[in-house]
Amino acid sequence: MGENEYLVFKRIVVDAAHYIPGHPTCGSPHGHSYIIENLSVHTLDGKPFELNEQGISVDFGDIKSIIKRYMDHVNIIPSEHWKQWRDFYEEMGFDMNRLIPVKHTSWEFLARELKRKLQNKIGYRVHFRLFEGADDNTGGFEV
Ligand SMILES: [Zn+2]
Repeated sequence: MGENEYLVFKRIVVDAAHYIPGHPTCGSPHGHSYIIENLSVHTLDGKPFELNEQGISVDFGDIKSIIKRYMDHVNIIPSEHWKQWRDFYEEMGFDMNRLIPVKHTSWEFLARELKRKLQNKIGYRVHFRLFEGADDNTGGFEV
């Protein structure tokens, strides 16, 4: 860690629903806490971060709000089911912004997708671990 990389936070917990079509135990909608740990940012070229007028390179609040937007109190659905969910959400008057369509709803894919979104928005390389479930028997996926 140094002027070209640093740890932004140790741990954020979000809650979301998802399901994995065709999976024997995860095939129907259910919820998880997702733990995002040891999120660090790195410059692309190894040079020191450029600081703004306040001396800040990456605002912690921006990263947190991106994570919350896509992973907290949302329903993560396979994009192939988007139309059915959209119709259901419309009928029920649910917040459409809480419906997050993705190609795959597995934690591995969610970690990669979140990394991609964060990097696109903040313009730096991002690393973190994503755990599905808060108990000690869950595995983590590092991206
Ligand atoms: Zn699950």
